[in-house]
Amino acid sequence: MPFSGLSVITYNIPMAEFLYIHIPYCIKKCIYCDFLSLPFDEQSAKGYVDSLCRELEIRRAAAGTLKTIFIGGGTPTVLPDDCFRQLFHCLRENFELSPEIEISVEANPGTLSAAKIENLLTLGVNRMSIGIQSFHDGELKTLGRIHTSEEALVSVRLLLTAGLTNISVDLMYGIPGQTIGTWEETLEKAAGLSPRHMSSYELTPEKGTPLSRLINKTVLTMPEEGLILDMYALAIDFLQDRGYEHYEISNFALPGFRCRHNLNYWERGEYIGAGLGAHSFLQGVRSSNTSDINTYIERLADDIIPGAEAIEISPEEAVKEFIFLGLRKTEGISLREAKTMRPDFLDACTELIDSGNLVITNNHLRLTRKGLPLSNMVIVRLFESLGL
Ligand code: SF4
Repeated sequence: MPFSGLSVITYNIPMAEFLYIHIPYCIKKCIYCDFLSLPFDEQSAKGYVDSLCRELEIRRAAAGTLKTIFIGGGTPTVLPDDCFRQLFHCLRENFELSPEIEISVEANPGTLSAAKIENLLTLGVNRMSIGIQSFHDGELKTLGRIHTSEEALVSVRLLLTAGLTNISVDLMYGIPGQTIGTWEETLEKAAGLSPRHMSSYELTPEKGTPLSRLINKTVLTMPEEGLILDMYALAIDFLQDRGYEHYEISNFALPGFRCRHNLNYWERGEYIGAGLGAHSFLQGVRSSNTSDINTYIERLADDIIPGAEAIEISPEEAVKEFIFLGLRKTEGISLREAKTMRPDFLDACTELIDSGNLVITNNHLRLTRKGLPLSNMVIVRLFESLGL
């Protein structure tokens, strides 16, 4: 259902302990990107942060004590220091922050300086997620990234020198031209920096992106499916051998360093999303903000949440979400909870367990090593068995 205006969002019990903030600016669009990102210009970014702070003031009514804040993008680190100061001032004025709060900021190599890092750490940022993608310059060029592998190394060293060790590194496999050898080199170089957390995402050509057009015109060729599967398997073995726990399909962490903010998504926890196009999940309703920057700014100038849509999640949708989000975690989903939602749950899993794609351990249903790369197919089959 479409909605607009603050009147629609009424909260009986302030609950959400997880806050996402979207900063929709990037220096240059990567060829595979289908995220909401706009070309950075300082003047508009400053105006945007004013509106964002207004939205946060309104949304504080839905918040409990915050356990995590995740500032994502786009490239949040393109923002000038005074924008971050303004944002954190607003956060501290309007929200109660847990003493153990995890505050993550996404960063791109090439947008970090020692001064910028110092400002972020002074403001309370205690986790940085840095989008490196590859340590191979040719692959970075193919992807249209703004940085070289050397700049990525320098950015991580700057963070370490500033005393921040809770660093997450994003890597990408399945890049046109990538080989198992260059992927292993990327993993080696990343592991050499000892980040506490690593994400390893498969590059997928999304419709409408320059990448998908270049593939259609055969200018670029995606690696063979078998090679992509080998790259995924290599990432799992390589990172597990170095002490990283494979805790989610694409995510790995040293003990104690799982991303608490993202775990909340996979556990269907409530959260508030603020910023252009940001999504929220509160009291069984998933809602999103407008993706139009002018509408976003205009509505907030009138103190109206710039909502685009809000959907009340039906019990059936809730079961689907529980399955497809929960199975992303390698520990899987609680059988007790699943059976409460659907008494026939276990019967519906029999075929997928027999075929070796799912397994039950510790009263949890989880994907096997065979099922992990086939997760989409496994989930669709499970929905079919449950008549969803
Ligand atoms: S840095 Fe991230 S958000 Fe920005 S264009 Fe590249 S992929 Fe998209």
